Amino acid sequence: MEQLKCLRCGVEMEFVGREKIQLGRTGWILGDLPNLVAGALETAIFTCPKCGKLEFFQGDFFDDEGEETGSIAETRCPSCGVSYDLDYPKCPRCGEANPNW
Ligand SMILES: [Zn+2]
Ligand SMILES: [Zn+2]
Repeated sequence: MEQLKCLRCGVEMEFVGREKIQLGRTGWILGDLPNLVAGALETAIFTCPKCGKLEFFQGDFFDDEGEETGSIAETRCPSCGVSYDLDYPKCPRCGEANPNW
């Protein structure tokens, strides 16, 4: 992961944690991001210790669990939020139909 610096202060930002957010309610934060699918989105949250600014990133870019690596296209289940390969007809966790299938 690259070091994040606050755009305003230039100090290193601190990792706060991950949050699952509901896209419909937070479009004002993430409205410009491409590749969004319906449902919950995992975000990685950072804060500036100096000015308190919060930055949100898609959790996939900071995946340290090794589960979602690889170049295979993935989709996210609109029901339970799990990521899985785009060529599966349905969610392997809950069985919800793949909206892209
Ligand atoms: Zn700052
Ligand atoms: Zn699911």
